[in-house]
Amino acid sequence: MTISCDVAILGGGTGGYVAAIRAAQLGKSVVVIEMDKLGGTCLHRGCIPSKSLLRSAEVYAEINESESYGIETSGVQLVFPKVQKRKEAVVEQLHQGVQYLMRKNKIQVVKGKGRVTGPSIFSPRSGAVAVELEDGEMETVVSSHLIIATGSRPRVLPGLEPDGKVILSSDEALMLEELPSSIIIVGGGVIGVEWASMLADFGVQVTVVEAAGQLLPQEDEEIAKELQRLLKKRGVKVLTETTVDAATCQVTEDGISIEARKGEQSQSLTAEKLLVSVGRVANIENIGLENTDIRFDKGIIAVNASMQTAEPHIYAIGDCIGGLQLAHAASHEGIMAVNHLSGEKLHPYHTHLVPRCVYTRPEVASVGYTEKEAKELGHDVVIGKFPFSAIGKAIVYGQKDGFVKVVADRSSGDILGVQMIGPHVTDLIGEAALAQLLDATPWEIGEAIHAHPTLSEIIGEAMLAVDGRSIGF
Ligand code: FAD
Repeated sequence: MTISCDVAILGGGTGGYVAAIRAAQLGKSVVVIEMDKLGGTCLHRGCIPSKSLLRSAEVYAEINESESYGIETSGVQLVFPKVQKRKEAVVEQLHQGVQYLMRKNKIQVVKGKGRVTGPSIFSPRSGAVAVELEDGEMETVVSSHLIIATGSRPRVLPGLEPDGKVILSSDEALMLEELPSSIIIVGGGVIGVEWASMLADFGVQVTVVEAAGQLLPQEDEEIAKELQRLLKKRGVKVLTETTVDAATCQVTEDGISIEARKGEQSQSLTAEKLLVSVGRVANIENIGLENTDIRFDKGIIAVNASMQTAEPHIYAIGDCIGGLQLAHAASHEGIMAVNHLSGEKLHPYHTHLVPRCVYTRPEVASVGYTEKEAKELGHDVVIGKFPFSAIGKAIVYGQKDGFVKVVADRSSGDILGVQMIGPHVTDLIGEAALAQLLDATPWEIGEAIHAHPTLSEIIGEAMLAVDGRSIGF
């Protein structure tokens, strides 16, 4: 059978389903081809299940620390199967929501594995995708425009391939039926530190091994140092400039042992489980790219500023084009692709203005350039900094670790970047992102009235600190 539509979307993850809704809003007939579940990695193996587990871990940790709030507890019990059940319920609720949005917007979902077969037989300017349905039958989707949104999967380290029992990727870690007593986490990027923070709160002994000189290698050095200090305070062992030697890995009845090397020194690490979190690989194989003129480089699909591939009627968005590999970047790119193919005006997309959030305890969030990047770009940098320890609400919350750092250009007064570590900063970063989008100056944001007592006061104070005008510190 052949289905014809205006816009076909290969992959119904965050990028794909958001693009589909935008296309339907613009009056297009839309087909989404999805081989697994609508919602993709973010909903089923990423953002949502991991944040649900993190929330349970946070509640557990706060109950254990409740004495300092004047609340004495006894008999507190962590029932991990119930933690997992709650995670599944959260995911399912949102999964239902995405399915409802498809129905509401009259988007047809074809369940199966799609493969681009090239320009369609009807017109060389339209695309065709052959879909192997769940029952083995084939269907063809012919469209005027095609958006590829096939996402990514965990990167595998040779010699440390996930076995689902002892060696895990984030996919298997999310499905754990019981908590291990100890774990080695290879890779101290976003996923690695989120797992370290969560498992430490659940009472697991955690060792993080990171090859770079700091955790979160893409983020500001001071922020990373503060995160490392606070994780260490909670018992997490952090080994930087250190790599594991997969050749020495031994899986036994009790767990795993592996050599970790830092320069000439080496030490043996043992744990019940090992989590590999060393980045993600774009899903660009076996989707028929060879039947097109689409170019790909270093494992990702090449696109222009409008998300178009070398085939002008085929777009690509989200994790399969590399870059930030964040859910909100994928959905923004999906909206951009649809706006472009519909002839709508596009606003410039500056990837450095996409907020980056890390859901550790405390959280980390940033937007724009770090101090180091700004200096490398030739800016005469001035810094405004303000600690949470001087913010009333942070003290009330008992969460006064961390600070906000504003990076500005001394002569133009432009905000170049904002980095934060502290309570709820993943919610606070929105103001900084808006400030940068609107080209606001630190003075303008500092002059905006921030309610008291709120955590948002720290944004105003850190902005005023750029000119040495902060009040509360
Ligand atoms: P995906 O969500 O991966 O969707 C791709 C879809 O395409 C999948 O459903 C797949 O089944 C389908 N597909 C692939 N090939 C085919 C084919 N041939 N035929 C049919 N269907 C196909 N990002 C954040 O912004 N915030 C977070 O807190 C966050 N946490 C994360 C935590 C973890 C543990 C992980 C792994 C990721 C996290 N991410 C987070 C990243 C986020 O999940 C991704 O950036 C986002 O899902 C990318 O969206 P996408 O649409 O490009 O791809």
